[in-house]
Amino acid sequence: MTEKKTRHILGISGGKDSAALAVYMRDKVADMEYVFTDTDKELEETYEFLAKLEAYLGKPIIRLNAERPFDHYLKLFNGYLPSSRQRWCTRVLKLKPFEEYVGDEPVVSYVGIRADEDREGMISTKPNIKTRFPFKEDGINHADVLRILDEAGLGLPKYYEWRSRSGCYFCFFQRKSEWVGLLEKHPDLFEKAKAYEKVDPVTGDRYTWHTGESLEELSKPERVAQIKEQAEARSQRSSSAHGQEAEIDDDSERPCLICEL
Ligand code: SF4
Repeated sequence: MTEKKTRHILGISGGKDSAALAVYMRDKVADMEYVFTDTDKELEETYEFLAKLEAYLGKPIIRLNAERPFDHYLKLFNGYLPSSRQRWCTRVLKLKPFEEYVGDEPVVSYVGIRADEDREGMISTKPNIKTRFPFKEDGINHADVLRILDEAGLGLPKYYEWRSRSGCYFCFFQRKSEWVGLLEKHPDLFEKAKAYEKVDPVTGDRYTWHTGESLEELSKPERVAQIKEQAEARSQRSSSAHGQEAEIDDDSERPCLICEL
C-alpha cells in the first residue's frame, strides 16, 4: 500500500505574523498550500493585503468559506452574539472550514506564533494534523516579523493604523479605541455592527458586542473623545514601559490564532 503524501498548509489570517510566516516559508516548502478562511465579514484592507501577499508568493491564497454565513449561525444561536466566552464564530466560521479543507490526509500545519510570545490559541486538534511553529523554532521575534514584511515590500496591512488585529470588522476582541477607529474609517461597517445589537423587548436583556456599553452609547461624541484620551494615555504608558510592541500586543484576551496571527 502506498503511503499517503503529507500536505503542507499555512493558514493566513490577514494579520502580520501569518503573512510574515508565508514569506519566510516561501522558499523552504515548495508545495505549500496557503489558505485564508473568509468569514465574509472581513475588512477591505485585509483583502488588499492578501492580494499583495499573493503577488509576492506567486501562488493563489485559497479562500475557504464557511458553508453558511455568520447571519445563518446567529439565527441558530437565537441572536446570541459571539463573545470571548461563547466563541461560536471561530468554531463554525474559521476552524470548521479549515478542518474540512484539510480532510483526513497527513498534514503539517504551519502557525506563526513568534519566539517572543508565550501563548496558546484555538488550533485544530485533528489527529492527522501536525502543527509546526517555525518562528518559535528559529527564534523569530516581533522585530524580525516587521523586517521580513518590510524586506518583502509588503509592510503592514493598512488596518494596523487604527486596529491591532485582523479579523471580522465586528470582532468583540476589539478595544474601545478600535471601535472608534472603525467608526471613523468605516462608518458603514460601524452601522452594520451596531445593527446586530438588540434589546429584548420582553426581558430588557441587551445583546451588545461589549458587556455594559452599546455601540450607540460608544459612538456619542463625548464618549469618543474620552476613549481617545484613554487610548493616548495608555499608549504613552506602554511606549515608555515596554516600547511600541507592548501597545500592539498587551491585551490579555486574545482571539483564536486562526483569526488573528
Ligand atoms: S475575528 Fe473575532 S468575530 Fe471573527 S471569527 Fe474570529 S473571534 Fe469571531
